[in-house]
Order: sequence, then structure tokens, then C-alpha cells
Amino acid sequence: MWVRMRFDIGWSDILYGIASTGRLLDRRRLEWELRHYWTHPEQIFPCLSVRTGFDLFWAVVGLPAGSEVMMTALTIPDMPRIVAHHGLTPVPVDVEPSTMAPGLQMLERAVSPRSRAIVVAHLFGILVPMEPIIDFARRHHLLVLEDCAQGFIGRGYEGHPESDVVMFSFGPIKTATALGGAILRVRDPELLRRMQERHAQYPRQDRRAYLKRLLKYAVLKAACSRPICDLVIATCRMAEWDHDQIISNAARGFPGPGFFQRIRCQPPDPLLAMLVRRLWNYPEARLQERIARGSYLVGLLPSELQRPGNRAKMHSFWVFPILAENPPAVIATLARAGFDATSRSSLRLVPTPENRPHLHPVLSQAILDRVVFLPFGREIPPRALRQMAELLAGLGSHLTGTSLEEMVARGVSPIHA
Ligand SMILES: *Cc1c(COP(=O)(O)O)cnc(C)c1O
Repeated sequence: MWVRMRFDIGWSDILYGIASTGRLLDRRRLEWELRHYWTHPEQIFPCLSVRTGFDLFWAVVGLPAGSEVMMTALTIPDMPRIVAHHGLTPVPVDVEPSTMAPGLQMLERAVSPRSRAIVVAHLFGILVPMEPIIDFARRHHLLVLEDCAQGFIGRGYEGHPESDVVMFSFGPIKTATALGGAILRVRDPELLRRMQERHAQYPRQDRRAYLKRLLKYAVLKAACSRPICDLVIATCRMAEWDHDQIISNAARGFPGPGFFQRIRCQPPDPLLAMLVRRLWNYPEARLQERIARGSYLVGLLPSELQRPGNRAKMHSFWVFPILAENPPAVIATLARAGFDATSRSSLRLVPTPENRPHLHPVLSQAILDRVVFLPFGREIPPRALRQMAELLAGLGSHLTGTSLEEMVARGVSPIHA
């Protein structure tokens, strides 16, 4: 089986991490090294997770209760949950599927006199052009936050210079993972100072928690490698477990109760050391190779196949999503040929405020209903990619149906490209 789930970390990194948990480390030096990876070291704020930094930001920015925060309609559910926790109202902004950018018309529809901020998520490795959104935000006096958790491409993109906050995640399933940790860039020095002040009062996460994490992902990484994964999948089948569910659950951070207590921690020293190592040593060539592989697979696919971001200017292929009329049929066909595709995603819709039902993001909903992620690891040879593309081409109406463009044209949603 060519498995979809990959952890973008080497065995040598994991061993380094394990060794670091037993070593005395110079925290100030590590933070200095983390800051100086970026173009604006003075704006950089390392923390335990994107969710930690995002929560801190709303805690110190002090918007009046009931203020509205416009958000890319698709994101992980914890993001709108955090916004709501601070007494603010998340408002979904639908995305244009061909670019995965918030549609300008949808922005106009969602904005209200109570709007104070907009959070733009760069999804699947597609980078959304920020210029039009920055212009829009300027006209409406909105704070701009960029969620680059799925969009890390090294120094190639550090966020729009005028964005107020830019967030990068190094959680387990992310590019260049440190199995945790995040970097925020905060433009306003006063706001950054207040975030740091509050952060300094957080308890530091125990090193042993990070050691446990390293061991857990060592096991998962081994379980996802060929040929062990075949054994794992066969075992799951016999026991009637859903291997896809097990892997997805295992890869989620901070599950269970006490969510806010758990994100409100400072990163332990060994995690900072791992972040330094991953940032400074991550080979740009690896990203270039991933992009080349993605473009190669795009070229192999049937032309009528729909793909989120098919017209995006920059796609770094963190994952490879396609849209299918009948996802279960597509997944079953690929599985029979040894390709582990899935429609399981950690993304959910940002809930629509009850008093504004017309803002329900129909296109984002359609993407969630139809998305299939293809296995796309670097161990998959071109020959296998070609075979997968041929299988897809043979799927006919299971693959292609009503196009999202048609849905738009029929007036399901008033967005145009
Ligand atoms: C992973 C992810 C996050 C959360 O990042 P953490 O560092 O795990 O908190 C936020 N937004 C998106 C879109 C993500 O994919």
C-alpha cells in the first residue's frame, strides 16, 4: 500500500530530539537562533502551537465583546472555537475553489459594522494572494491574520509584510515538523510585548511530555513505512478497525478535555532545540522536489478532473486534494490497487452565525463533501503515480459530475473567479 500519511521528519531528527530531552540547553540562545532564521527577528514569537499564539493574540488585543472575526470558511475547528472563547463572533467567508482564496464578493457580504479582523487560511499548501485582502482590510479597518499552518515553504514565504499576524505550525503532520511548536510573526511591537508578557506567566510544558510525543511519533512513523504498513493495515482489517481513523486521531494535537489549559503552556527547551534544527536544516530542495512531483501528477490527471486550487498561482502541494463526485467509490477503487486515498480531513466549516444564514459557505461545504486526498509521498515512484492517474481516468462519472463552476453559475453561490 502507498500510504497517504507521512511525517515530514527523519529518524536522525527524532533521535536528536530524544537526546535533547536529557540535555541542559541554553533557552535564550535557542530563541535567538529561532528569531534569526526570519527576515524580521524582532517580530518573531515562538510558542507551543499556532493555537497557543492565536489564543494569546485575542487575549491581549482587547476587542469589544460581540466583535466579528471574518475567517476563511474552512479551517480546523479549534480556530473558530478559540475566537468564540474570547467573546467574539467568527463569521465564515466562503472560498473560491479554483484559487482557495476568500472570494471578494463573499468578503463584501460578510463584512459588517462589527467586523474587526479577518483570518485567512492558506490551505493544502496553496498560497492565497494577500494583496486584494490587505486592500479590503484597509478599507474596512480590519486586523489581518494569516494562518500559514499548511503553507510553510521555508524563507520563500513569511507572510504579507502588512499582515498583523502570520502563523506557522510545526505540528506532527505539517511540513518540516518538529512534532510541535509554532512561530508567529507579530507586526505591532506593543502587541507583541503584551503577548510575551502574558506568555511568560504560562507554566512550561514538561520535557517528559515532549519525550512521550517523540516516542509516539517514532512508532507511528514506523507503522506508516513500507512494508510495515501493509501488516498494520491487514491487522486493522482483521480486527475491524479503521486504520485511517486511528492514524488521523493519533496525529491530532491536544485531544480530550482541558483544551485551553493544555494550549496555555510555554514550549519545553528540547522542543525549541528541535524547531531550530528543523528550520535551519530543512532543505529547500525537498520542497522544490515536492512541487515538481505535484506538477507532474497534475499533468497526468484527466483534464476534466476538478482540483481545489487548479488555478492557484502558487501551490506547494502540502497535500494533493482532488474533488470527486463519488468519493467512496474513488477511494475503494484506489485502495484495491494499493493506493491509500482518503476523504478524511481535519478541516471543518466555520459555523454560520444564526442571524445571518445567507452566509452559509456552500462552496466550502461542496469541497468538504467531495474532497479526496491522494497518496503523494516522495517514496512513490513516477510509475506508480502514472498508474494512479490511469485508474482515476477510468473512473468516469464517479470522478467527475456537476462542476463547482456550474453550481456557481446556477446561483448556488454568488462568487466568481
Ligand atoms: C494544523 C493547523 C492549525 C493548528 O496548528 P497547531 O500548531 O497544531 O496549533 C491551524 N490552522 C490550520 C489550517 C492547520 O492546518
